[in-house]
Amino acid sequence: MNTSPENVISYCPKCGSDEFVFEGERSFLCGKCKFNFFINSAAAVAVLMVNDKGQLLLTKRAFEPQKGMLDLPGGFVDPGETVEEAAVREVKEELNLDVHHLRYLISQCNEYEYSGYTVYTTDLAFVAQVKSWDGMKVADDVAGYEWAGPGEIDYSKIGAESIKSIVRFWESELKKVQ
Ligand SMILES: [Zn+2]
Repeated sequence: MNTSPENVISYCPKCGSDEFVFEGERSFLCGKCKFNFFINSAAAVAVLMVNDKGQLLLTKRAFEPQKGMLDLPGGFVDPGETVEEAAVREVKEELNLDVHHLRYLISQCNEYEYSGYTVYTTDLAFVAQVKSWDGMKVADDVAGYEWAGPGEIDYSKIGAESIKSIVRFWESELKKVQ
């Protein structure tokens, strides 16, 4: 089933009218109240952290989509929040780690189905320094974690294509400096 917004949304979210028409590439217009609703990509962050052995920290997803697959720590940017603030917050929430010296790496687009609706995200990846690994604790919404050094990463275990691309880019950058 095609779960893109134009196939799923039937009524105006403001007035409830069924005269809610998908027009152009990414917006709806209500024929009754003139509400104009845009389909945008949501900003999300992914954070790459490396231990003193040069291994990358990968988390295991506890929930759908891609439950049980590997991921990078991160999540959606809240309204009113910068992407840097979101990166620091997500790592703290998921792993109880404090990060700093964030360096922007690359962005990737992602698209997935959630509750019968296609969600579009733009994943912004940062490399971050961990202040201290002491006190690292996995939150309830994370199933676990794994370490993998460059050359040891099993891409078939990573869920999202966007995350695979980010990790591949990180690995290729390391090769350049070696
Ligand atoms: Zn309306």
